[in-house]
Amino acid sequence: MVDQKPQQSGIPNFNKLEQNILKFWDENKIFEKSLDKTRDKEPYIFYDGPPFATGLPHYGHILGSTVKDVFGRYQTMKGRYVRRRWGWDCHGLPIENIVEQHLKISGKKQIEEIGIDRFNKVCRDNVLNFANEWGKTVRRMGRWVEFENSYKTMDTSYMESVWWGIKQIWEKGLIYEDRKVLLYCSRCETPISNFEVAMDNSYRDITEESVYVKFKLLPRQRIVNDLTNDKTYALAWTTTPWTLPGNTSLNVGADINYILVEQNGERYILAKDRLNVLEGEYETIAEFPGRSLAGLQYEPLYPFFAEYLKTNPEVSPEQLSHLHRVYLADFVTTTDGTGIVHNAAMYGEEDYQLAREKDLPRVDMLDHKGQYLDYAPENLKGVFFKDADKIVLKELRDKGLVYRTENYLHSYPHCYRCGTPLFYNALPAWFVNIQKIKPKLLGLNENINWYPEYLKRGRFAKSMEQAPDWNISRNRYWATALPFWKCAEASCRHTTCVGSVSELMERSVNFQEVYPAADVRSNSFNIESIDLHKPYIDQVKLKCEKCGGEMTRVNEVVDCWVESASMPFAELHYPFENRELFQQRFPADFVAEYIAQTRAWFYVMHVVSTILFDKQPFNNVVTTGTILAEDGSKMSKSKGNFPDPWLVMEKYGVDALRFYLMSSPVMNADDVDFSEKSVQEVNRKVSLILYNVWSFYRMYQKAASDAKYEDLKLDHVLDKWIVSLLIKTQREVTKQMDNYNTVRASRAIAEFITELSTWYVRRSRERMKRDDEAAKQSLLVLGFAISETAKMLAPFMPFLADYIYKDVTGNESVHLSDWTDLSAPAVDTAILEDMALVKEVVELGLSLRKEKNLKVRQPLAGLQVKFIGKKGELDPEILKIVAEELNVYQVSQADELPKGENWAVKDSLRVKIALDTLLTDELKAEGLARDLERLVQDLRKKSGLTVGELVDLYYNTADEKVEDALLGRFDRKKTFVNQISKSLEVEADFETQGVVDGKAVWVGLVKI
Ligand SMILES: [Zn+2]
Ligand SMILES: [Zn+2]
Repeated sequence: MVDQKPQQSGIPNFNKLEQNILKFWDENKIFEKSLDKTRDKEPYIFYDGPPFATGLPHYGHILGSTVKDVFGRYQTMKGRYVRRRWGWDCHGLPIENIVEQHLKISGKKQIEEIGIDRFNKVCRDNVLNFANEWGKTVRRMGRWVEFENSYKTMDTSYMESVWWGIKQIWEKGLIYEDRKVLLYCSRCETPISNFEVAMDNSYRDITEESVYVKFKLLPRQRIVNDLTNDKTYALAWTTTPWTLPGNTSLNVGADINYILVEQNGERYILAKDRLNVLEGEYETIAEFPGRSLAGLQYEPLYPFFAEYLKTNPEVSPEQLSHLHRVYLADFVTTTDGTGIVHNAAMYGEEDYQLAREKDLPRVDMLDHKGQYLDYAPENLKGVFFKDADKIVLKELRDKGLVYRTENYLHSYPHCYRCGTPLFYNALPAWFVNIQKIKPKLLGLNENINWYPEYLKRGRFAKSMEQAPDWNISRNRYWATALPFWKCAEASCRHTTCVGSVSELMERSVNFQEVYPAADVRSNSFNIESIDLHKPYIDQVKLKCEKCGGEMTRVNEVVDCWVESASMPFAELHYPFENRELFQQRFPADFVAEYIAQTRAWFYVMHVVSTILFDKQPFNNVVTTGTILAEDGSKMSKSKGNFPDPWLVMEKYGVDALRFYLMSSPVMNADDVDFSEKSVQEVNRKVSLILYNVWSFYRMYQKAASDAKYEDLKLDHVLDKWIVSLLIKTQREVTKQMDNYNTVRASRAIAEFITELSTWYVRRSRERMKRDDEAAKQSLLVLGFAISETAKMLAPFMPFLADYIYKDVTGNESVHLSDWTDLSAPAVDTAILEDMALVKEVVELGLSLRKEKNLKVRQPLAGLQVKFIGKKGELDPEILKIVAEELNVYQVSQADELPKGENWAVKDSLRVKIALDTLLTDELKAEGLARDLERLVQDLRKKSGLTVGELVDLYYNTADEKVEDALLGRFDRKKTFVNQISKSLEVEADFETQGVVDGKAVWVGLVKI
């Protein structure tokens, strides 16, 4: 037995109850015990995606933590060994940005001024600043996870495994270095990967001025039957005016029809489908397909760029001759713009591709901070690209080269860390070749069970089909170093990949110089003593295996998504350690994250696992939606548009919050507006109801009892019914949990709790209060139902479930119990069906009473019932329930219902009923007695008399019928009345002047 005493009155304090359970778990090491209990059992492999440690946990994390905990607990109860180890994502921009602010510096130049060693040390020292806060939340959430023994992506062992992984990919020929157009953050001075941008926060709707620009064609060029004159322009449209100075070509579609028009003495060319771009009257001169425009030459908008290219030694005369011409391109459409596309080689993916195909010069116009380089004219030199839009527009307007402008609303990508607008930039970077492995990625996806299922062929497959090659390099500091070394000899430039610390030691010419403290020959050599981060790793030189020259590490670091993708093996320092353990633990049985991870962690992990192990990384994946604020907007700290999770937990209990999340559509990957009211509702409709059922039970059953199904004697129809319903529910919950459907599972439990309370306990109350053998049997049934409910509820509401289970059964913890397998006993479907019919009868009966204005207290003589499509007689015991519920003396089943003015009838699809509404004097007198009992009960309650406290009742009334009812029919037992006498003189302790059925009566109670 536990010493916690049930609280028998008032509303329980769930927060306090949960705190006590937390203490109990800690002190008795219940989590550890649950692991010990299953250690030799079949493992259920779970991978925990590492969160960044740089922010505080929010509802999204609470949701993720809950899903992970629910299945961890469920599978443990099912007898599986579920290792749960926390991990931290330590590297990358999030912490670097924080440290920059912390050190009051910004940008790479200042980082390098203070020294990369110092910068990285501050990153290391601060990255786990919030770990304590996380620990507190995780504990309070009731999440069981090895938090202290967490893995960290900044550990040398972890980084070494990442190196090993990269080397495997390199040796398979799937990594290459290239210049590619990538989204680039000019503040962080690094490319941002496509799936980082795809994650939330990155796109913002902004309105900008887009422009229809006039590119002046050189005169006397032939277009079919016409010649260009000195006022013939190609109209092109752009939303990024700042790219116009770097224009290299114009592109048209070969099969698109173009029109030459004349307006106000000028001639314009644009697609026929886009004529609505023109303002005012115009005259059509000619129509021709796009291919007739190929090769036409035009004047550059900005001569400075062309002039500069002429002086650039890397640009050949050949390339110069290709500049500023019209080219055919497949990507041109007429859905917007003019059907003529302005092309700036360095600042668009398609632009760069085309420039490469047509051998156009590919030269930067901006520096790495997104500012115009020195060769730009004075008004642009050093200007940030976004600020140049206005300057460019003004200048072109002055030159008469703007046809018109219009405001354009589009969603523009911003840096997910610092909020700077990104731009497409052709950058040198390292890539994993996704194109080559796509069929395999898609093939292995077939082995994954997705929940919800549509994500498998939907979002996940689609993101793979459309995936560009994965840029795995970043131009930053605090990260795993990219393990490539290049030969410094210009004639050689051999590249090699290092896959381990020992390989680094063997191949380097100066390892001991860089790491003097690392005693590599010692037996107790610990690789954690080697810091593989910049700047140290950059000092390590290798000897070139090709030419004997010196090799230097490339400058880039690894995209931290490579690290989280490597988590299945890197957390175990595989293959350097734990080889066997890794074999057992790959792939995972289960991962769970929110939907944006479909294109991020789930995707990168799938890529790495596919290449390295030719296997999918997980077999089952649960994807949740996003939790939004109550009004449907994004939860935002600065807006304060959501309740503090800590307050919600204190008010309603973590259990209620967990159950609310698990039963909400957010578990079907839909976005959900957080609703505090719904948490409160769970608290009232699930937590409190179950608590009250348990309190009732404990009033009559003082001893702990761990009854099994086999111990039950099911004599009473209600007992039979509730056990059948329990078995059915238990099977449903098991089935849904095995399908990873927490919504259906939790709702089935909630429905059962409602039935248990509002039907079973309510109808059994009187029966259980009796001190006889039948009451004992029924209490055994109720105890069984409560402890089994606690088991089903344990994954969802681990606190209340444990509190109740411990108390009812006397066992140590529900989380050390086995998930009940009730697959053997047969569900009595007939009784479930009959009870459902009975409830329908009661519902119809109650609504008839309401219609006829007959309160339930007023007894009635009879009810006749006809069941449609049901053969045979209903159990008389069940019909008795109807009689009690509807307060009628007799209920009978009939083939033909009686007719007549006394009989009120009502029907549903399955049931017809006829209620005898005739009020005889006898019935009226009974009704009066019930009204008087109610009057007395209300007075008792108001007066604070406790149940069972005896009183003498005095009355005074002028009405004979009232007097008769009090003296003849009044139920003294139910109302705890010792004796009843008429008196006016008595000094009552409590009194009331009531009106019953229109008749006045005074009632006084005297305590005895
Ligand atoms: Zn940035
Ligand atoms: Zn070499």
